[in-house]
Amino acid sequence: MEILKGVAASNGIMIGKAFVWTGGELPDIPRYTFRRKDDCEKEWARFLRAIEDAVKAKEERLEQLSPKSDKTEIDILKTHVMMLEDIELHEQVHTRLFEENENAEWAVNSISRTMVQTLFKSRDAYLRERAVDIADIANEIIYRLMGIERVSLSKLKENVIVVAHDIMPSDTITMDKKHIQALALDMGSVTSHTAILARSFEIPAVLGLGAISHKVKDGDCLIVDADRGVVFINPDEKTIAEHQKAIKANQASLNKLVSMCDKQALSTDGVLFSLKANIELSVDISRIYKYGAEGIGLFRSEFLFLTPGVPAGEEAQYQAYSKVIKKSNGLPVTIRTSDVGGDKILPNFYDGEEKNPLLGWRAIRLSLATPEVFKTQLRAILRAGVHGPARVMFPMIASVDELEQALVMLEEAKAECEKNNQKFDSSIKAGTMIEVPSAALIAGKLAKMVDFFSIGTNDLVQYTLAVDRGNEKVSYLADPRHPAVLRLIKMTVDAAQEAGIPAAVCGQIAGDSSMIPLLAGLGITEFSMNATAIPKIKSVLCTLNAAKCRKLAESALNCGTADEVSALFNKVQ
Ligand code: PEP
Ligand code: MG
Repeated sequence: MEILKGVAASNGIMIGKAFVWTGGELPDIPRYTFRRKDDCEKEWARFLRAIEDAVKAKEERLEQLSPKSDKTEIDILKTHVMMLEDIELHEQVHTRLFEENENAEWAVNSISRTMVQTLFKSRDAYLRERAVDIADIANEIIYRLMGIERVSLSKLKENVIVVAHDIMPSDTITMDKKHIQALALDMGSVTSHTAILARSFEIPAVLGLGAISHKVKDGDCLIVDADRGVVFINPDEKTIAEHQKAIKANQASLNKLVSMCDKQALSTDGVLFSLKANIELSVDISRIYKYGAEGIGLFRSEFLFLTPGVPAGEEAQYQAYSKVIKKSNGLPVTIRTSDVGGDKILPNFYDGEEKNPLLGWRAIRLSLATPEVFKTQLRAILRAGVHGPARVMFPMIASVDELEQALVMLEEAKAECEKNNQKFDSSIKAGTMIEVPSAALIAGKLAKMVDFFSIGTNDLVQYTLAVDRGNEKVSYLADPRHPAVLRLIKMTVDAAQEAGIPAAVCGQIAGDSSMIPLLAGLGITEFSMNATAIPKIKSVLCTLNAAKCRKLAESALNCGTADEVSALFNKVQ
């Protein structure tokens, strides 16, 4: 038996069989040229064969599906067959092969990159939606040309624990949740987006394991103990029995906690807290409310745009947002505008890799640069707002200018709704995330411009401490108790209080019971988290003395290190 330690990214314990997935990242694409015409002919034939094989595989899959099967999968397959057979793509590849004498992999890669970028900036919503599909089929053709078998995580035949180097959020969204029992990855941290999605799907995950993908073979028995962040490879009988017992105990304590869902989150000295849920996709909303959420504090809308084959034009977005709002029965729903970029990228999106994607063209920066896309989303949110109390929130705001521009576009979107004779919520509440240190430092200015703040501590920690949130090598540095982070949170809360607006926390720490006394002490009264964490956080809040936490938080702000802060708060636990 071998034991590996990583980070507990999505709680739960699972015992099962390993499936080592190697289909994640696109390998380095070879580039070469041909001199002779008959070599070009051979290359063309190779391309056509790859297309033929890809179409055949999809048609076979379509035949296996019955009309009652998941409609999304049928739609995706049909769209992809159409795109693979698209004459324009074939003509472009032909030109590159015969005029530039390029190899097929390189030609497909460069053509698809240009197409993805052009489509994404298009005014036509339907064309924009196709960007993800183009990227997906281009990768499929390239894999086939390179002779690499690309096993998709979206269709698995049996229950498995997926072991991989890394999984991109786009693969995580489409993965087969029915058969994937747990994740064990070399890469990733508790705030990486794969972790966020794993929590959302309630799949236990231990990330940042370093080299598990090299140590495990298909079929090995694994215990993924995502409560402690440990993975056991081929465990002995005794360890298996201990974990089976722990699985039963976990279930019993969850049932007990869920039974107190209707109780208020009231501290022993009478401070009332509000607990909301973070959601990623609009699926299964009623489940969220079973855990006692008092609304949606963060709807990460970008995942709508990252799912291949799923339309995300104005109408489709309006439907998705309306569904969540209606199912929320009058509770507030905070829809964050798209935070694409960083580690949440459309494959092949950038014209050349960004050297520092997390500091690059991400979130509000991308939205302001593509006003048509942004305003389409704003119109969809405004229109959905007629079904209940929706709020719109902007990600990664770093300056007054950006927030001003976003708010101007919100007004323009309202005018467009009016012009289109569409019903919309003209007085929708608008807020901003505080997740960049510059925003916290000028929170006083920003607070005067919006109706609410939500502190995104995942990014605030990343940008304050200069720690890539997806890099397990430096994740030990990403301590939200660092006094620099605490001071920024305090500045934000003070600015919000002075302006008379609420400030919530919606980063991962809002669902971390060990952080709650400290956050409550800093003046936070609203927390938004993965829904499954709500019962536990509520039970912690109900035993807290808020006044005592405030005193401790004052001392914490004067500490020099995260360890000193932890020492102060260990007494509260
Ligand atoms: C955050 O940064 O804390 C946050 C909630 O946003 P995301 O995790 O989606 O970046
Ligand atoms: Mg963020």
